Amino acid sequence: NRPPRMHRDFVMTRACSLQNTPIRIMQWNILAQALGEGKDGFVRCPMEALNWSERKYLILEEILTYRPDVLCLQEVDHYFDTFRPVLASLGYQSSFCPKPCSPCLDVHNNNGPDGCALFFNRRRFQLLHTAHLRLSVMMLKTNQVAVVATLRCRLTGQVFCVAVTHLKARSGWEAFRSAQGAHLLQQLCDLTTQSEEGIPLVVCGDFNAEPSEEVYRCFMTSPLGLDSAYKCLSEDRNTEPPYTSWKIRPSGESRSTLDYIWYSERAFQVDTVLRIPNEEQIGPDRLPSYHYPSDHLSLVCDLSFSQQPHRLM
Ligand code: NDP
Ligand code: CA
Repeated sequence: NRPPRMHRDFVMTRACSLQNTPIRIMQWNILAQALGEGKDGFVRCPMEALNWSERKYLILEEILTYRPDVLCLQEVDHYFDTFRPVLASLGYQSSFCPKPCSPCLDVHNNNGPDGCALFFNRRRFQLLHTAHLRLSVMMLKTNQVAVVATLRCRLTGQVFCVAVTHLKARSGWEAFRSAQGAHLLQQLCDLTTQSEEGIPLVVCGDFNAEPSEEVYRCFMTSPLGLDSAYKCLSEDRNTEPPYTSWKIRPSGESRSTLDYIWYSERAFQVDTVLRIPNEEQIGPDRLPSYHYPSDHLSLVCDLSFSQQPHRLM
Protein backbone atom coordinates (compact mmCIF):
# COMPACT_ATOMS: atom_id res chain seq x y z
CA ASN A 1 0.00 0.00 0.00
CA ARG A 2 2.54 2.53 -1.20
CA PRO A 3 1.84 6.23 -1.73
CA PRO A 4 1.53 7.20 -5.43
CA ARG A 5 4.56 8.11 -7.52
CA MET A 6 5.18 11.81 -7.85
CA HIS A 7 4.13 13.05 -11.25
CA ARG A 8 6.64 15.16 -13.19
CA ASP A 9 5.91 16.86 -16.50
CA PHE A 10 8.28 17.24 -19.40
CA VAL A 11 8.85 20.85 -20.40
CA MET A 12 9.37 21.51 -24.10
CA THR A 13 12.26 23.90 -24.37
CA ARG A 14 12.06 24.58 -28.11
CA ALA A 15 9.87 23.86 -31.10
CA CYS A 16 11.05 20.57 -32.58
CA SER A 17 10.16 18.80 -35.78
CA LEU A 18 8.20 15.57 -35.80
CA GLN A 19 10.89 13.62 -37.66
CA ASN A 20 13.19 14.38 -34.78
CA THR A 21 14.14 11.34 -32.71
CA PRO A 22 16.02 12.84 -29.80
CA ILE A 23 18.28 10.90 -27.46
CA ARG A 24 16.76 10.64 -23.99
CA ILE A 25 19.39 10.99 -21.26
CA MET A 26 18.83 10.16 -17.60
CA GLN A 27 21.18 11.11 -14.77
CA TRP A 28 20.57 9.69 -11.31
CA ASN A 29 22.39 9.05 -8.04
CA ILE A 30 20.21 6.15 -6.90
CA LEU A 31 21.60 6.04 -3.29
CA ALA A 32 23.75 3.01 -2.56
CA GLN A 33 21.80 0.45 -0.55
CA ALA A 34 24.64 0.02 1.97
CA LEU A 35 25.06 3.78 2.47
CA GLY A 36 21.33 4.45 2.81
CA GLU A 37 20.91 1.77 5.46
CA GLY A 38 24.28 1.99 7.15
CA LYS A 39 25.88 5.41 6.79
CA ASP A 40 23.73 8.28 5.62
CA GLY A 41 21.60 8.89 8.70
CA PHE A 42 18.41 10.01 6.95
CA VAL A 43 16.63 10.60 10.25
CA ARG A 44 13.20 11.38 8.79
CA CYS A 45 13.11 8.37 6.50
CA PRO A 46 11.70 5.21 8.13
CA MET A 47 14.17 2.31 7.90
CA GLU A 48 11.45 0.15 6.31
CA ALA A 49 11.28 2.54 3.38
CA LEU A 50 14.91 1.59 2.68
CA ASN A 51 14.35 -2.17 2.42
CA TRP A 52 16.09 -3.31 -0.75
CA SER A 53 13.39 -5.88 -1.54
CA GLU A 54 10.96 -3.01 -2.21
CA ARG A 55 13.20 -0.06 -2.90
CA LYS A 56 14.69 -1.78 -5.95
CA TYR A 57 11.28 -1.76 -7.62
CA LEU A 58 10.91 1.98 -7.01
CA ILE A 59 14.29 2.58 -8.66
CA LEU A 60 13.42 0.36 -11.63
CA GLU A 61 9.95 1.94 -11.90
CA GLU A 62 11.50 5.41 -12.07
CA ILE A 63 13.88 4.30 -14.83
CA LEU A 64 11.18 2.52 -16.81
CA THR A 65 8.77 5.44 -16.51
CA TYR A 66 11.14 7.51 -18.63
CA ARG A 67 12.79 4.73 -20.66
CA PRO A 68 16.01 6.66 -21.36
CA ASP A 69 18.24 5.76 -24.33
CA VAL A 70 21.25 6.49 -22.13
CA LEU A 71 21.14 5.96 -18.37
CA CYS A 72 23.89 7.27 -16.08
CA LEU A 73 23.82 6.08 -12.47
CA GLN A 74 25.93 6.75 -9.38
CA GLU A 75 26.08 4.82 -6.09
CA VAL A 76 25.29 1.53 -7.78
CA ASP A 77 26.01 -1.33 -5.34
CA HIS A 78 23.63 -3.83 -6.92
CA TYR A 79 24.96 -3.92 -10.49
CA PHE A 80 25.73 -7.61 -10.95
CA ASP A 81 22.73 -9.01 -9.08
CA THR A 82 20.06 -6.50 -10.17
CA PHE A 83 20.66 -3.65 -12.61
CA ARG A 84 22.78 -5.43 -15.24
CA PRO A 85 20.51 -8.49 -15.58
CA VAL A 86 17.20 -6.65 -15.32
CA LEU A 87 18.17 -3.85 -17.68
CA ALA A 88 19.86 -6.29 -20.10
CA SER A 89 16.53 -8.09 -20.43
CA LEU A 90 15.01 -4.73 -21.37
CA GLY A 91 17.56 -4.09 -24.13
CA TYR A 92 20.29 -2.16 -22.32
CA GLN A 93 24.00 -2.85 -22.67
CA SER A 94 26.09 -1.53 -19.80
CA SER A 95 29.39 -0.91 -18.10
CA PHE A 96 30.15 -0.56 -14.38
CA CYS A 97 33.17 0.95 -12.66
CA PRO A 98 33.35 0.41 -8.88
CA LYS A 99 35.00 2.94 -6.58
CA PRO A 100 38.41 1.59 -5.54
CA CYS A 101 37.70 2.05 -1.79
CA SER A 102 33.95 2.29 -1.67
CA PRO A 103 32.54 3.42 1.69
CA CYS A 104 29.92 0.68 1.23
CA LEU A 105 32.59 -1.86 2.17
CA ASP A 106 32.61 -0.52 5.74
CA VAL A 107 28.93 -1.38 6.16
CA HIS A 108 27.96 -4.71 7.74
CA ASN A 109 26.35 -7.10 5.23
CA ASN A 110 27.27 -4.88 2.28
CA ASN A 111 26.70 -6.01 -1.29
CA GLY A 112 30.12 -4.94 -2.60
CA PRO A 113 31.50 -1.55 -3.64
CA ASP A 114 29.34 1.18 -5.14
CA GLY A 115 30.29 2.84 -8.39
CA CYS A 116 29.22 4.52 -11.61
CA ALA A 117 27.24 2.61 -14.20
CA LEU A 118 26.35 3.51 -17.76
CA PHE A 119 23.53 1.84 -19.70
CA PHE A 120 22.44 2.41 -23.28
CA ASN A 121 19.79 1.10 -25.64
CA ARG A 122 21.67 -1.45 -27.70
CA ARG A 123 19.11 -1.55 -30.49
CA ARG A 124 19.75 2.11 -31.09
CA PHE A 125 23.49 2.39 -30.43
CA GLN A 126 26.60 0.39 -31.16
CA LEU A 127 29.39 0.58 -28.59
CA LEU A 128 32.65 1.71 -30.21
CA HIS A 129 34.80 2.16 -27.12
CA THR A 130 34.59 2.11 -23.31
CA ALA A 131 37.01 3.71 -20.84
CA HIS A 132 37.07 3.44 -17.05
CA LEU A 133 38.81 6.49 -15.62
CA ARG A 134 40.26 6.98 -12.17
CA LEU A 135 40.22 10.68 -11.32
CA SER A 136 43.51 12.13 -10.03
CA VAL A 137 44.37 15.21 -8.00
CA MET A 138 47.93 16.53 -8.19
CA MET A 139 48.92 13.31 -10.01
CA LEU A 140 47.65 11.19 -7.12
CA LYS A 141 44.83 8.72 -7.75
CA THR A 142 41.61 9.42 -5.84
CA ASN A 143 38.63 7.28 -4.88
CA GLN A 144 36.45 8.80 -7.64
CA VAL A 145 35.92 7.30 -11.09
CA ALA A 146 34.18 7.83 -14.42
CA VAL A 147 32.86 5.60 -17.19
CA VAL A 148 33.08 6.93 -20.73
CA ALA A 149 31.46 5.22 -23.72
CA THR A 150 31.71 6.14 -27.38
CA LEU A 151 28.45 5.25 -29.12
CA ARG A 152 27.38 5.15 -32.74
CA CYS A 153 23.75 5.59 -33.70
CA ARG A 154 22.86 2.53 -35.79
CA LEU A 155 20.34 4.47 -37.90
CA THR A 156 22.19 7.70 -38.64
CA GLY A 157 25.84 6.81 -38.03
CA GLN A 158 26.20 9.76 -35.67
CA VAL A 159 28.92 9.21 -33.07
CA PHE A 160 29.05 10.74 -29.59
CA CYS A 161 30.68 10.17 -26.23
CA VAL A 162 28.86 9.89 -22.93
CA ALA A 163 30.49 10.00 -19.51
CA VAL A 164 29.20 9.34 -15.99
CA THR A 165 30.96 10.40 -12.83
CA HIS A 166 30.53 11.00 -9.09
CA LEU A 167 32.85 13.58 -7.55
CA LYS A 168 34.09 13.66 -3.94
CA ALA A 169 31.38 14.64 -1.43
CA ARG A 170 31.33 17.01 1.56
CA SER A 171 32.23 20.62 2.31
CA GLY A 172 35.89 21.45 2.63
CA TRP A 173 36.64 19.46 -0.54
CA GLU A 174 35.81 22.18 -3.08
CA ALA A 175 39.37 22.49 -4.45
CA PHE A 176 39.63 18.70 -4.60
CA ARG A 177 36.42 18.48 -6.66
CA SER A 178 37.66 21.20 -8.94
CA ALA A 179 40.91 19.31 -9.55
CA GLN A 180 38.96 16.10 -10.19
CA GLY A 181 36.75 17.95 -12.66
CA ALA A 182 39.77 19.43 -14.42
CA HIS A 183 41.35 16.00 -14.73
CA LEU A 184 38.11 14.55 -16.08
CA LEU A 185 37.82 17.36 -18.65
CA GLN A 186 41.42 16.74 -19.72
CA GLN A 187 40.79 13.03 -20.22
CA LEU A 188 37.52 13.71 -22.07
CA CYS A 189 39.40 16.14 -24.28
CA ASP A 190 41.94 13.41 -25.12
CA LEU A 191 39.12 10.96 -25.92
CA THR A 192 37.01 13.29 -28.07
CA THR A 193 39.34 15.54 -30.04
CA GLN A 194 40.95 12.92 -32.29
CA SER A 195 38.90 14.08 -35.28
CA GLU A 196 39.03 17.69 -36.46
CA GLU A 197 35.43 18.44 -35.48
CA GLY A 198 35.62 16.72 -32.10
CA ILE A 199 33.20 14.03 -30.99
CA PRO A 200 30.03 15.46 -29.38
CA LEU A 201 29.95 14.86 -25.66
CA VAL A 202 27.43 14.32 -22.85
CA VAL A 203 28.67 14.28 -19.25
CA CYS A 204 26.30 13.22 -16.47
CA GLY A 205 27.18 13.29 -12.84
CA ASP A 206 26.67 13.87 -9.19
CA PHE A 207 29.27 16.63 -8.94
CA ASN A 208 28.59 17.20 -5.23
CA ALA A 209 28.99 20.89 -6.07
CA GLU A 210 26.61 23.83 -6.18
CA PRO A 211 26.74 26.01 -9.31
CA SER A 212 28.74 28.56 -7.29
CA GLU A 213 31.67 26.15 -7.01
CA GLU A 214 34.87 26.27 -9.01
CA VAL A 215 34.26 22.86 -10.63
CA TYR A 216 31.00 24.15 -12.13
CA ARG A 217 32.82 27.14 -13.60
CA CYS A 218 35.50 24.80 -14.99
CA PHE A 219 32.87 22.80 -16.86
CA MET A 220 30.99 25.91 -17.98
CA THR A 221 34.11 27.52 -19.47
CA SER A 222 36.04 24.48 -20.71
CA PRO A 223 37.37 24.37 -24.29
CA LEU A 224 34.98 21.44 -24.89
CA GLY A 225 32.10 23.95 -25.20
CA LEU A 226 29.73 22.34 -22.70
CA ASP A 227 26.46 23.70 -21.36
CA SER A 228 24.15 22.37 -18.65
CA ALA A 229 20.79 21.04 -19.83
CA TYR A 230 18.76 21.87 -16.73
CA LYS A 231 19.36 25.61 -17.12
CA CYS A 232 16.67 25.41 -19.84
CA LEU A 233 14.03 24.98 -17.14
CA SER A 234 14.59 28.43 -15.65
CA GLU A 235 12.88 31.58 -16.82
CA ASP A 236 16.13 33.20 -17.93
CA ARG A 237 17.34 29.82 -19.27
CA ASN A 238 20.59 30.45 -17.52
CA THR A 239 19.94 29.33 -13.94
CA GLU A 240 20.24 25.85 -12.48
CA PRO A 241 17.24 24.39 -10.59
CA PRO A 242 17.01 25.34 -6.88
CA TYR A 243 17.77 21.75 -5.84
CA THR A 244 18.47 18.27 -7.17
CA SER A 245 18.88 16.70 -3.71
CA TRP A 246 16.94 17.29 -0.49
CA LYS A 247 17.47 15.38 2.75
CA ILE A 248 17.42 15.58 6.52
CA ARG A 249 20.36 14.25 8.53
CA PRO A 250 21.11 14.65 12.26
CA SER A 251 23.13 17.74 11.27
CA GLY A 252 20.02 19.29 9.75
CA GLU A 253 18.20 19.78 6.47
CA SER A 254 20.21 20.04 3.28
CA ARG A 255 18.74 21.22 -0.02
CA SER A 256 21.25 21.53 -2.83
CA THR A 257 21.91 21.48 -6.56
CA LEU A 258 24.58 18.83 -7.12
CA ASP A 259 23.65 16.90 -10.25
CA TYR A 260 24.11 17.94 -13.87
CA ILE A 261 23.75 16.86 -17.48
CA TRP A 262 26.40 18.62 -19.58
CA TYR A 263 26.27 18.52 -23.38
CA SER A 264 28.29 19.86 -26.32
CA GLU A 265 26.57 23.13 -27.14
CA ARG A 266 27.72 23.03 -30.74
CA ALA A 267 26.39 19.53 -31.44
CA PHE A 268 23.16 19.18 -29.46
CA GLN A 269 19.95 21.04 -28.75
CA VAL A 270 17.84 20.45 -25.65
CA ASP A 271 14.29 19.54 -26.73
CA THR A 272 12.66 18.69 -23.41
CA VAL A 273 13.57 18.59 -19.74
CA LEU A 274 11.79 16.72 -16.94
CA ARG A 275 10.53 19.14 -14.31
CA ILE A 276 11.90 19.14 -10.77
CA PRO A 277 9.17 18.19 -8.25
CA ASN A 278 8.03 20.96 -5.93
CA GLU A 279 8.32 21.04 -2.15
CA GLU A 280 4.83 19.63 -1.65
CA GLN A 281 5.52 16.69 -3.97
CA ILE A 282 8.77 15.96 -2.15
CA GLY A 283 6.96 15.98 1.19
CA PRO A 284 7.73 17.18 4.71
CA ASP A 285 10.24 14.40 5.48
CA ARG A 286 12.15 15.12 2.23
CA LEU A 287 14.12 12.31 0.55
CA PRO A 288 14.43 9.39 0.44
CA SER A 289 10.89 8.33 1.39
CA TYR A 290 8.28 5.68 0.82
CA HIS A 291 7.44 7.29 -2.51
CA TYR A 292 10.92 8.17 -3.76
CA PRO A 293 13.89 5.83 -3.34
CA SER A 294 16.87 8.23 -3.38
CA ASP A 295 17.92 11.49 -1.78
CA HIS A 296 18.85 12.71 -5.28
CA LEU A 297 16.24 13.42 -7.97
CA SER A 298 16.57 11.89 -11.40
CA LEU A 299 17.35 14.35 -14.21
CA VAL A 300 15.97 13.51 -17.65
CA CYS A 301 16.29 15.43 -20.91
CA ASP A 302 15.91 14.86 -24.63
CA LEU A 303 18.85 15.97 -26.75
CA SER A 304 18.84 16.12 -30.53
CA PHE A 305 21.72 16.63 -32.89
CA SER A 306 21.75 20.18 -34.26
CA GLN A 307 22.62 18.95 -37.73
CA GLN A 308 20.55 16.01 -38.88
CA PRO A 309 22.72 13.92 -41.22
CA HIS A 310 21.35 12.02 -44.19
CA ARG A 311 19.92 8.73 -43.05
CA LEU A 312 22.05 5.69 -43.79
CA MET A 313 18.98 3.53 -44.30
P1 NDP B 1 32.83 10.66 -0.27
O1 NDP B 1 33.21 11.68 0.77
O2 NDP B 1 32.89 11.11 -1.67
O3 NDP B 1 31.37 10.20 0.08
C1 NDP B 1 31.00 8.87 0.10
C2 NDP B 1 29.52 8.80 0.18
O4 NDP B 1 29.05 9.41 1.37
C3 NDP B 1 28.87 9.48 -0.99
O5 NDP B 1 28.09 8.54 -1.62
C4 NDP B 1 28.11 10.61 -0.36
O6 NDP B 1 26.85 10.82 -0.95
C5 NDP B 1 27.91 10.20 1.07
N1 NDP B 1 27.82 11.35 1.98
C6 NDP B 1 28.01 12.66 1.72
N2 NDP B 1 27.84 13.42 2.81
C7 NDP B 1 27.53 12.58 3.79
C8 NDP B 1 27.20 12.75 5.15
N3 NDP B 1 27.20 13.95 5.72
N4 NDP B 1 26.91 11.66 5.88
C9 NDP B 1 26.91 10.44 5.34
N5 NDP B 1 27.22 10.20 4.03
C10 NDP B 1 27.51 11.26 3.28
O7 NDP B 1 33.64 9.32 -0.03
P2 NDP B 1 35.03 8.83 -0.58
O8 NDP B 1 34.85 8.14 -1.86
O9 NDP B 1 36.08 9.88 -0.49
O10 NDP B 1 35.33 7.72 0.48
C11 NDP B 1 35.55 8.06 1.82
C12 NDP B 1 35.06 6.89 2.59
O11 NDP B 1 35.70 5.72 2.09
C13 NDP B 1 35.40 6.96 4.06
O12 NDP B 1 34.25 7.41 4.75
C14 NDP B 1 35.72 5.54 4.41
O13 NDP B 1 34.57 4.98 5.03
C15 NDP B 1 35.89 4.84 3.11
N6 NDP B 1 37.22 4.29 2.93
C16 NDP B 1 37.32 2.94 2.80
C17 NDP B 1 38.49 2.33 2.61
C18 NDP B 1 38.51 0.86 2.42
O14 NDP B 1 39.54 0.26 2.26
N7 NDP B 1 37.35 0.23 2.41
C19 NDP B 1 39.74 3.08 2.59
C20 NDP B 1 39.56 4.52 2.71
C21 NDP B 1 38.33 5.07 2.88
P3 NDP B 1 26.54 12.02 -2.03
O15 NDP B 1 27.56 11.94 -3.09
O16 NDP B 1 25.16 11.65 -2.42
O17 NDP B 1 26.61 13.31 -1.25
CA1 CA C 1 24.83 9.60 -1.29
